[in-house]
Amino acid sequence: MVQYFRNIYESIFTVLIGMGVTFKHLFRPAVTLQYPREKKELPKGSRQQLFVNIDDCIGCLQCARACPVSCITIETVKAEADEDLGETSNGKKIRMHLPRFDIDMAKCCYCADCVPPCPTECIYMIPDYEFSTYDRKDLIFKFSNLSSEKTKELEEREKAKKQMG
Ligand code: SF4
Ligand code: SF4
Repeated sequence: MVQYFRNIYESIFTVLIGMGVTFKHLFRPAVTLQYPREKKELPKGSRQQLFVNIDDCIGCLQCARACPVSCITIETVKAEADEDLGETSNGKKIRMHLPRFDIDMAKCCYCADCVPPCPTECIYMIPDYEFSTYDRKDLIFKFSNLSSEKTKELEEREKAKKQMG
């Protein structure tokens, strides 16, 4: 009988403690955000989505070599002697066509090791963290800006070179 009344007392007491905590929070400012209507500004330098300014890329592969999980895939084709591909915004001569520059963000571990080695500072994190998708394939970000015709032309050129030895 004593145990019966003790259980009732403990149940009521426990509920009151819980309600007390809830009651205290009724008069404090809310800390939760109504995402996606409200968004938190992330700290400067936080690692989010990688971006490549492909116009400044010289195809040196240093970013891909630095990547610990090999999620950067770059294919380059050397420009011909009479081809002028221009230069980057920091004055480096561009000598490579870039038919492929893919970053698999599903594999990326956001270490940012690929950023410092870039001689033209064209690979960096941008403040975009909303890129979830239903298909992993959609997380392969493609940065090459060559048309499919140009890519095909380069492939054929490379093939012809190999055949000539
Ligand atoms: S952030 Fe790290 S894991 Fe992601 S691409 Fe760069 S080096 Fe690779
Ligand atoms: S390190 Fe920079 S310039 Fe070199 S391939 Fe990577 S993005 Fe391009």
